Order: sequence, then structure tokens, then C-alpha cells
Amino acid sequence: MHTLDEYQTETARTGEGYAAMENDLHVSILALGLTGEAGEVADLVKKVIGHAHTFDRDHFIAELGDVMWYVSELARFVDCPLSEVAAANVKKLRARYPDGFDPERSRNRTVVITNATPDGEPIIREFRHAMEGLGVNEADIRHGEAYLRANAPDGKPIAYTNATADDWVETDR
Ligand SMILES: [Mg+2]
Repeated sequence: MHTLDEYQTETARTGEGYAAMENDLHVSILALGLTGEAGEVADLVKKVIGHAHTFDRDHFIAELGDVMWYVSELARFVDCPLSEVAAANVKKLRARYPDGFDPERSRNRTVVITNATPDGEPIIREFRHAMEGLGVNEADIRHGEAYLRANAPDGKPIAYTNATADDWVETDR
């Protein structure tokens, strides 16, 4: 197994039964499966911490693999290579935390842009959402570019960012 996309080809081999179902049923099973397997990971940890079980590393890795299977199949459901999922996550986190995790940056997220159009309407909608929940105090949209100012805890602006949908995709979801 060399690449994420090769792995996804492998999950497709055992995912075809679900893929043959109606879309709503297919995606529901995948989403439920993902949370179920994440729950199995959590249960293993709980039993080690709470019930003094011996940590079974092989079992733990197997459950992480089960989570990966559902992630891979959910990505395939939307015709997305698994490598693209990983790349998007890397891009998001490098934008949010360019020097490694920073609690200050965690508290003061800056930009939310999706599906920008030249007139900027989708960006404005996303910024209004951001302004309600993320401490943003100023946003200005010009020709599809977004300019945004965020508040520090003392109320002083700490960030002024311009971005387009092509180079920023930052979400709180
Ligand atoms: Mg499992």
C-alpha cells in the first residue's frame, strides 16, 4: 500500500455493495459507519483509561483502519480522491496554523470562503456567518476578493487578510 488513492481503490473493492444502493441510503450507512467506528476507537481508549484494560495496539490500529475505510468511501461517494481529502486538510491547517498549533489562532479564526463568484454574494453570506460566530468585526468584499479584520480579546484588530476562493478555503465545520 503506497498511496492514499491506492488505498481508496482497495476500499472500493469492498464498498460496492453499499454503492449499489440508493444514494440516500448509501451515504447514510457510510456516515453512520464512520461514527460507529470512531466510537469503537473511543471505547478502546475508555476501557484502558476507565477499566484498566491492557492497551491492545493491534486492535487500536485495526479500529483506526475501520475509520479510514469509511472516510475513503465517503470521499468516493462525492467522487473525491482520498489524496485530495488529505491535501485539503493540509492546506487548511497550514493556513490556520503556519507555525504549528497556536491556541490564539484557534480562538481567532479568520476567513470562511466557499463557492466565490465574481459578484461576491456567496462570500458575503459566509462572512456574515463568520462575523456572528468567530469574532470577526469587519469584512469587505470587492470583485470576489475578501478583506477581513478579526478582534483580539482586547478588541484591537489583529489580522487583516485578503483572500480569494482559489487560495483560501477555511471552514469551521
Ligand atoms: Mg471496527
